[in-house]
Amino acid sequence: MAKFLSVFSVRNLLVLSLALNVSLVLRVLVSHDSQNGSFNGFFIEKQNGPQEEAHASKGARLSSSVSSSSSSPLTTAQGDQDRVINLDHGDPTMYENYWQKKGDETTIVIPGWQFMSYFSDPRSLCWFLEPEFAKQVVRLHKVVGNAVTENRHIVVGTGSTQIFQAALYALSPRTEAEPISVVSAAPYYSSYPLITDCLKSGLYKWAGDARSFSKNGPYIELVTSPNNPDGFVRHSVVNRSEGILIHDLAYYWPQYTPISSPANYDLMLFTVSKSTGHAGMRIGWALVKDEDVAKRMTKYIELNTIGVSKDSQLRAATILKVISNSCERSDGEGDSFFEFSYHLMAKRWKQLREAVHQSGLFSVPDFPPQFCNFLNRVFEPQPAFAWVKCEGEIEDCESFLRGKKILTRGGKHFGVSPKYVRISMLDRDKNYDTFVERMSMIQS
Ligand code: PMP
Repeated sequence: MAKFLSVFSVRNLLVLSLALNVSLVLRVLVSHDSQNGSFNGFFIEKQNGPQEEAHASKGARLSSSVSSSSSSPLTTAQGDQDRVINLDHGDPTMYENYWQKKGDETTIVIPGWQFMSYFSDPRSLCWFLEPEFAKQVVRLHKVVGNAVTENRHIVVGTGSTQIFQAALYALSPRTEAEPISVVSAAPYYSSYPLITDCLKSGLYKWAGDARSFSKNGPYIELVTSPNNPDGFVRHSVVNRSEGILIHDLAYYWPQYTPISSPANYDLMLFTVSKSTGHAGMRIGWALVKDEDVAKRMTKYIELNTIGVSKDSQLRAATILKVISNSCERSDGEGDSFFEFSYHLMAKRWKQLREAVHQSGLFSVPDFPPQFCNFLNRVFEPQPAFAWVKCEGEIEDCESFLRGKKILTRGGKHFGVSPKYVRISMLDRDKNYDTFVERMSMIQS
């Protein structure tokens, strides 16, 4: 004991006691802040600013959605009625259950000495593309039948957000005096204008709703199909000879929409975020017909981030492989990833339509049913987002729902009326169930 005391002097004890006090004060401050809506130095809800998908405020909002769906002391104490349900982002956490059940089948281990080089395949056009990832991309498109991969170059990116910027860089003419116009038919994905104009590029410039675009000369049209936010299948709308098209097919997967034929466009964007639910892996890819365009996209990613995380590409390759295996093994039920996600989306859309009907204050779009070649059945699209309209007197649907503690993204961010909001259908069961129950009880 005497020896212990001599090692653990009074000075040590004083330092320990000071540390404990500081940590106590910090705990009180942090818990006070989080109850006031601020967490980790960010505000949980930015009232009027642009609500982009992937910017600094996202960290804050994600904090709020994670805390609202986990059983934090704050959540439990407030009870479900007062809990804020954050369905502003399309954070695909609903897929966690499937991947949890898969267990070790998707675990990868990367020893410290492996995959250290910048290069994946120096001879390949996209020199940072992991061959195994490329192989699994081609395989999955073949299994699902949602895109042509023959005679295409694959360019991998840090999410399709980076790929989109690489595409703008690659497609913009270098000879024009002014930036090329970038358009998309409203309602368009709210991040397009923000990403396009964030660096005030001399190469390209956001020019708004494709339907009212009348400027002569070259332009880039973004065609999102199925569309974010409203879920409809889309085609280009400007249709002039000087148009260059980018097809964003983030949601062209069988849990969201019938796969009618393999997409066969010049430049197609895909992402694991919405196909497998692994948004945190930050992996997207493009299928590109033109070699020079693919080379320029690769150049952009080289300049921007000197390639794309190999760890993420290898993890993505494993996930895609497990999905393809699950589809090929499946007898139509049980294990198949797309059967699981299709049934979950179908259940959620049924719940939402019932809630909307019961409330009488809202409407959601109806979609024509179509035959899905992959699932071998006819069904109506069941999009990743619900595009909800507040009927009657309510002019600002986002504020109205915020008053009911449901956070959504209002129509103005998508270039249309504030009577509309976009609501994520991809949250965890607990949040989603609370949301539909609350919607059904909202009366005028
Ligand atoms: N395109 C569309 C249409 C999207 O909805 C999203 C994600 N919300 C993205 C691109 C970005 O995907 P990623 O996470 O791969 O950057």
